[in-house]
Amino acid sequence: MTITWTIINYYFMCRRKMRLFSRHLQSEHTSQTVAIGKYYHESRHEDKPNTEIELEGVKIDQIQWDTVIEYKKAKTHPDSARYQLLFYLYKLKQKGVIKQGKIIFKENIWSILVTLDEQSESDLLSTIEEIKTVLTQEKPPAVLLTTQWKPDKACKGCSYFDFCHL
Ligand code: SF4
Repeated sequence: MTITWTIINYYFMCRRKMRLFSRHLQSEHTSQTVAIGKYYHESRHEDKPNTEIELEGVKIDQIQWDTVIEYKKAKTHPDSARYQLLFYLYKLKQKGVIKQGKIIFKENIWSILVTLDEQSESDLLSTIEEIKTVLTQEKPPAVLLTTQWKPDKACKGCSYFDFCHL
């Protein structure tokens, strides 16, 4: 089972979404939120060459000196962004590369630093174990609903909205 940055990212947004994505039920192209995120991602350094780095389930936006930089549209899912970056730092550490991380939330003009210390690495590994459990369960997690049986606010803009709610 391959754990990728997208799987980690979706785990914190919606476990059902993570599970659907992991089974190759993909419909990202219909999501406006994803399109805006891609725009920010691609325009992060309009005047500079692409600095993206890919390795084993990791897609790093940029490395500046000792810092891995991840660009996000907005701080809607800060835990998701943080664990995604911790995953990058962990994968780099496995290759003998020690870095710190920084998440830049473009629309909020705000950033946070992320460090892979003993505690955060342990949290990351526990999360990966939980992810594996969800991915191997017989049934996917339930659709997110409010107490009035309406789509949860997390579903707004989700690319699986029609699949889950129609
Ligand atoms: S529509 Fe809602 S329940 Fe379905 S995958 Fe998206 S966030 Fe999860």
